[in-house]
This record gives sequence, structure tokens and C-alpha cells, in this order.
Amino acid sequence: MHGSEHSDVLVVGGGPTGTALATALASRGLDVRLVAPHPPTAYPATYGAWLDDLPGWAHGCAAQVWTDVRVYTGPQPTALQRPYALLDNRALLDTLLGRAGTRLDWTLGTVKHTEHAAGHDITHGVNGERWTASLVVDASGHGGTLHPTAYLEGPAFQTAWGLTAHFARPPITPGSMVWMDYRPVGTADSPATFLYAMHLGDDRYFVQETSLIARPAVNRALLGARLRARLDAAGTPPGEVLSTEWVAFPMNGAAPAPTRELSFGAAAGLVHPISGFQVASALNVAETLADTVCGAMTSGTDAAQAGWDVLWPEERRAARDVHLLGVRALLGLPAGALPEFFRTFFELPPQQWRAFLDPVTPAGSLARIMLRLFAHAPNGVRVPLARAALARPDASVKALQAAWFAAPQSGD
Ligand SMILES: Cc1cc2nc3c(=O)[nH]c(=O)nc-3n(C[C@H](O)[C@H](O)[C@H](O)COP(=O)(O)OP(=O)(O)OC[C@H]3O[C@@H](n4cnc5c(N)ncnc54)[C@H](O)[C@@H]3O)c2cc1C
Repeated sequence: MHGSEHSDVLVVGGGPTGTALATALASRGLDVRLVAPHPPTAYPATYGAWLDDLPGWAHGCAAQVWTDVRVYTGPQPTALQRPYALLDNRALLDTLLGRAGTRLDWTLGTVKHTEHAAGHDITHGVNGERWTASLVVDASGHGGTLHPTAYLEGPAFQTAWGLTAHFARPPITPGSMVWMDYRPVGTADSPATFLYAMHLGDDRYFVQETSLIARPAVNRALLGARLRARLDAAGTPPGEVLSTEWVAFPMNGAAPAPTRELSFGAAAGLVHPISGFQVASALNVAETLADTVCGAMTSGTDAAQAGWDVLWPEERRAARDVHLLGVRALLGLPAGALPEFFRTFFELPPQQWRAFLDPVTPAGSLARIMLRLFAHAPNGVRVPLARAALARPDASVKALQAAWFAAPQSGD
């Protein structure tokens, strides 16, 4: 394709989602233009994922894997028995680009909008560029560029502030990673936040104070102060700080309607509404999506519609509704109830809490897990959960129907 103006597919965005899809399509023989405002650059965020969520080829892109993975909702840790990986973003990018061959054209630019003319899409850049393509995919990250993501009752944000530093005394058990530490820091612990932390080797640790989901978002100053207070209270203040990271993204995207351009990744609201994870899922789904788009282009059918059908089958849309019910419940919980909620959550049989965090678990199974959680939760958690369900009776009834009609899964 090099030099030509027209491509089979134009992908907007060079994050993990855009790169994964663009390279998957190029490796299948399509001419692909990826438009991003930056050259291929290692993704700037600290990406973690459950090792078993990553496709096999991506295991080689893990910078580190922990088998000692803990959650604290009280004084004693719960061992999660599920290895967790920190991604090496440079290795991930290089691996993805390595398979694209010469059919990928990484073009510097910022997309403004698209229009449809004479059987193809014309994409306009902010500097007057024009690129034509048979299919345009918006992978431009949270909020989307071509079709703004819809958020139920307005966006609710995950925010976090963290740092990588040398520590004279270990802030967490050496060799471990702490997925969630909800133990209180002092007396004023509203809003509820938790520590997410990893031992990176030697005396280096990554520590991050996180607000799982809130509307309005918990701000950087509060999270920074809470992190310092937590580390000071434990007698483990950081020494030399090597880097800092601010995290902020919306969690509660609704399933988008089919459109002429396909949205994928964070732009499509595909961030998991309860965990905020997306990267592992995008790496997996990019392969299926690429197969589908190639198939549709070969057979001359509507590739955007075929892609949407893969991303949002009826079952997945129903599952999203159940997850959004969970979001509403989390938003309604008083700060003090969140540790209780997660204590009950991680007391579920491991296959159930894993299934709840899995982006492809069917709605019926999700709803059954929620019912089980409700049955086992203390009253301080149950009442706000019931309130959340009653506030969206339509979604609740659908979820209950899904749970009722779903064939029991093993472990349900
Ligand atoms: C700091 C941070 C930490 C996170 N940690 C995790 C984690 O541990 N695990 C996890 O699974 N998820 C994590 N997330 C969630 C994360 O946002 C997504 O999983 C992931 O980054 C989304 O990938 P994406 O490619 O869809 O979007 P992005 O990574 O946001 O990439 C969007 C791309 O589009 C480009 N772009 C934007 N607008 C335009 C335009 N108009 N024209 C052209 N290009 C454009 C951007 O420059 C960028 O290249 C984290 C998010 C943040 C912010």
C-alpha cells in the first residue's frame, strides 16, 4: 500500500487496541493505515493483566509475573491463586509490529471526522489530510473520536495516583503483588480507595492509590495525600522516586449502536465496567475481529456490521447491562461498605469471581453470581445493592430473567 492514498482499513489510534487490530489485519494481507499523533511508541501506562487472560503469544511480553497475589479487606490477606502479569510495553509493541509486514502504514496525524462518498469513507485529519478507506475503525481511546461513547447516567471514573520508587523498607511483602488493599488509613476514609502495588525487584516498588469507580471522580490531590498517609502509617515512605503515574478513565460505557465506522477498545466502551481492564481482552478480540473483517471484505459484505456483530452479540449486550447494574451498586455503596463488598466477592468460589471479571461471561452466569453475592453479603452491603437494583427495575428484571433461564454452569 505504501504511497497509495486508499487503504482497505484505516485505524484511528496507536494504543494497544489500535496496534493490535491494525497489525492483525495487515498480517492477514489487508492494506492498513494506522493514524496516530505519535510514531510507534511504547505505551505510556503501566499495564497489568491476569496472566491467563493474555493470549499465549503475549506471555513473552510480560515484564514480570507474580504468583503471590493478595487482596486485603481486613488484617489478613486473601491469596488469589491467580498469577498476575505486568506488561513490558516496548516488547508488546515490537511483537505486534513485527507481524505486520509491509502492509501497515503508520501515519502521523490526528483524525477530525469522516464522511462517506462513492462507496468508501474519507477520513479528514486536523491539518487538512484526506485518507480514503473501505472501512474505518475508531480505536482512539476513552470517549472515542468519531462516535462519542455513551455513559449510563454520565461517566463514572476510575482514578489512581502512583509512583515507582526505591524503598528503604518494603511497603508490601517482597516478591508479592497486592491487587487490592482496602485496609483503612486513619479515620477519614471517605471516599474509599485502595492500594495497588507490585514489588519490581531489589528495593523498587510500584505503589498506587486507586479509586475503583466514582462519580464525580476522586481527584489526584486526595489520592496522593492518601498514598503518602498510607505509606507513612506503615513506616515505609518512598525514597528516591523514579516515576509517577496519574490514571483517569471512564468505566461505565454502554454498548454502542452499530455505525458506519466500527469502534473498538476503550473508544467502544470495552473497558471492563467493574475492573477497568481492557488490554488483555483487546489483544484476544483483535484476532477474531481481524478474521471477521477479512472475511466480510472478501465476500463483499458489510465489514463494520460484521465487526459490530462480533463485539456486541445480544448475549454480550445483556452481559453489559448486568455489569452496569453492578456499577450502579458500587456507586451506591457507602465508603465503609466497599471493603465488605470485596470481602464477600473474594469469598465466592474462585471460578465465580474470575467469571465476574471475565469480559465474555454470559449475562445469565453474571446475574447468578450477583445473586449469590447478594445472598452472602452483610446487611450494610445488601441494602445499597437492593437499592441499586430497584432504581433500574428494567435492567434488574432482565438480569433476573437471564439468571433464571441460564443453564447452570459448573460452579454456579
Ligand atoms: C494510566 C492508565 C493505566 C491503566 N492500566 C490498565 C491496566 O493495568 N490494565 C488494563 O487492562 N487497562 C488499563 N488501563 C485502561 C486503559 O485505558 C486501556 O485498557 C487501554 O489504554 C485502552 O487502549 P486503547 O488502545 O483502546 O486506547 P488508548 O490506550 O487510550 O490509545 C488511544 C490511541 O488513540 C490515539 N488518538 C486519540 N485521539 C486520536 C485522534 N483524533 N486521531 C488519531 N489518533 C488519536 C492516541 O494518541 C492513542 O494512540 C489504564 C489506563 C490508564 C490511563
